[in-house]
Amino acid sequence: AGSGKFFVGGNWKCNGTKDSISKLVSDLNSAKIEADVDVVVAPPFVYIDQVKNSLTDRIEISAQNSWVGKGGAFTGEISVEQLNDIGCKWVILGHSERRHVIGEDDQFIGKKAAYALSQNLKVIACIGEKLEEREAGKTFDVCFQQMKAFADNVLSWDDVVIAYEPVWAIGTGKVATPQQAQEVHVAVRDWLKKNVSEAVASKTRIIYGGSANGSNCAELAKQEDIDGFLVGGASLKGPEFATIVNSVI
Ligand code: PEP
Repeated sequence: AGSGKFFVGGNWKCNGTKDSISKLVSDLNSAKIEADVDVVVAPPFVYIDQVKNSLTDRIEISAQNSWVGKGGAFTGEISVEQLNDIGCKWVILGHSERRHVIGEDDQFIGKKAAYALSQNLKVIACIGEKLEEREAGKTFDVCFQQMKAFADNVLSWDDVVIAYEPVWAIGTGKVATPQQAQEVHVAVRDWLKKNVSEAVASKTRIIYGGSANGSNCAELAKQEDIDGFLVGGASLKGPEFATIVNSVI
């Protein structure tokens, strides 16, 4: 881990029921959590209010998506204003499932980031290459292009956490090695230094996501430029998520 405050987010994706979420919340409420970590969970929209009303204030709430502009006649969407209204502090944008399953492109994601930040909703900005892109030696190109789309839209980086999530590692059980992750994290930090500023490069947290779990988090967290995790599958188990949160060193 680097010098920024360790950050661990749990992305619950499209999982859970009222009952299973109530159990998860109660496990999180009783878990011991280190003081020096920012902890955030992202429930499905329909359960945000339930979670907000039952989860300890120690853990902040994130949405998994937000509409690109002010709310209105956009059937099926959830606005940034509504997220603010129910006490959501964060939104995950550019997640690989939104990019590659739903088809969101860089420009749309960049605009969403601009709008969320303009309304004081903090952003977990996800980037990451697909397997074929890695195999073709394009990992950095892909990540830098996705970074540029964010950077073109971000005026202040104070409320942004970058999540490097190689697509081949998400939900596959194939975690990046600490060296593979560190290599990209350094490159992204270097990109920020060259294209934004030295100050932003050194203070912006870059977290890793992709099959992080209670067994592999400690080795990853030792890497100099890994400032935390975005966790999918393992965030659905309270005690394991707490282990990942507490892997801060
Ligand atoms: C994610 O979707 O952000 C993620 C990291 O998922 P998983 O931990 O399940 O690979």
